[in-house]
Amino acid sequence: MSEQDQEKAAKRAQWEEINRAKALAKQQQKDAAAAVATGGAVRPAETKKQFQAVKGTRDLLPPDTSLWNHVERTAHEVFGTFGFGEIRVPVLEPTDLFARAVGGDTDIVSKEMYTFEDHDFAHLERLRAQILGLEFDLVEAGNFGMFLTYIEKFTDGLRRGMEKKAIPLTLGNILAQKDLDDYLSRFENVTKGRPNETILRAPNFDADFTFVQQALSRVKFGEVISLRPEATASVCRAYIEHNLNQQPQPVKLYYTGPMFRRERPQKGRYRQFYQIGAEVLGGNEAPAIDAEVIEMVMTFFDKLELPGLELNINSIGHNAPDCRPKYVELLRTELHKVKDQLGPDSQRRIETNPLRVLDSKLESEQAIIATLPHIADHLCDACNTDYADVKNQLQLRGVIYHENWRLVRGLDYYMRTTFEITAKGLGSQNAVCGGGRYDGLVELLGGPQTKGIGFAIGEDRLILSLQDAGKVPAQRGRDIYIAWMGEHAYPEAVRIAKFLRTAGFSVELPPTEQKFGKALERAARLDSRYALILGDNEVSEGMFTLKTLADGSQEKFTGPDLLEFLKGHQ
Ligand code: AMP
Repeated sequence: MSEQDQEKAAKRAQWEEINRAKALAKQQQKDAAAAVATGGAVRPAETKKQFQAVKGTRDLLPPDTSLWNHVERTAHEVFGTFGFGEIRVPVLEPTDLFARAVGGDTDIVSKEMYTFEDHDFAHLERLRAQILGLEFDLVEAGNFGMFLTYIEKFTDGLRRGMEKKAIPLTLGNILAQKDLDDYLSRFENVTKGRPNETILRAPNFDADFTFVQQALSRVKFGEVISLRPEATASVCRAYIEHNLNQQPQPVKLYYTGPMFRRERPQKGRYRQFYQIGAEVLGGNEAPAIDAEVIEMVMTFFDKLELPGLELNINSIGHNAPDCRPKYVELLRTELHKVKDQLGPDSQRRIETNPLRVLDSKLESEQAIIATLPHIADHLCDACNTDYADVKNQLQLRGVIYHENWRLVRGLDYYMRTTFEITAKGLGSQNAVCGGGRYDGLVELLGGPQTKGIGFAIGEDRLILSLQDAGKVPAQRGRDIYIAWMGEHAYPEAVRIAKFLRTAGFSVELPPTEQKFGKALERAARLDSRYALILGDNEVSEGMFTLKTLADGSQEKFTGPDLLEFLKGHQ
């Protein structure tokens, strides 16, 4: 979608939202009027409101979910053949984990995380909001007394919470409490024994209010946690927490599951999306490990017959004076020379993170970027050899790749191999997998020095690409629909359903009796292969009539013969 189209779509969505809100307000007015007229017999609009999935999230329904299952099953199979074990990490983690691992100044951490304080002190949080919400000029005589009472109440609650260790005894909390106590002690005599409305506003109120405001804002009632925006940080945390470095190295783990980023939704970009990823932690940085990880993803994609795959690789060297930092400085110097021709984002990045300029998709910058120096020409000897070895190892494995010198990662602990895989049918969001080596990450998170490499596949995009190419597994209807008639037939129907399900067939057993014609109609609608007819005659003979719905032919069987026939015709 062009930028103009995107803008139009966003405007349209905004209008739809406004119209929905207007319709809801109208309905609420109507309901309120009806409630008055009927003395409350009509319930308010809220109870009738139709809920919708939160923006950027969606339901996955059958038959689509069978494709999702097929993809995940294939991941389990393929990754298993490479010796990877599954790890399941929590959806919630301490926010700091991501701030450290992903980087505090990345978009993901600074703008896109769903973060909240996890605690039992909603009443104190409300009280704080109340105090912070008090207007200065409202805190005149009378209200100043109330203002002090609120702060006293808050400080009491905070003290009690900290005494019980239910509120963390962090330096920030201890200092905040001390500041609030100091503030109160200055006015200790003001409120004593006097009715609130006779207490005058303090002379330096505005300056003091800022002081109180800062102290209050510093209080953290509990741990600050976030919905995970990615899982590499969690896997590294788990590696450290469970001393996985004591196990035979390297440890090879993979995961599947939802991730959360508050991005602007569009095709292939959601706020809740799914990733399938793997990490190799520990051991050495042999190029064979990098190549095997890439081979594994490509094997997985090939098995799924994902169309139009393109693997891009690069080496971004490492963080030593004679390697990447030297290149980054050169890049910065060159970028300064063409600064005027770059957009505001890239101009900013010249200072903050010049490598990220190479990521730019801005049409007007492409020709300039093409003239910049390539990192491959500025790697140290060790990284140069490593990159050549990785390429040799890929060739040995028959993995086809393109070198893309603009493929970079913005964080210091990323090093050497980086890769990205794109697929067809996805428009601008065509990256289905990103990965790379991150030898410094485990250490950055407080663990031992540990080598690491991994990747994350965007499962939503993978599914979109498979659907676009028509690579959807054939839908399976029911194997058998049981058309039972008569009260004697029902217990027999329950028994045979159980028998056939145990043998692995999918069986639909209608809960109430149906006329024969109706039963066949439903069997056809459910795309059943057979109808098993069970009426009084069959029950008295101890037989079952099996009707093949495709050609209408039917045959009678005993229970064991029926099973044999069905097994022989799968
Ligand atoms: P990253 O963790 O940013 O390296 O992303 C790895 C892969 O996850 C990307 O190549 C995408 O396929 C996928 N991905 C990232 N963000 C989203 C999103 N908001 N919606 C759908 N897929 C995403």
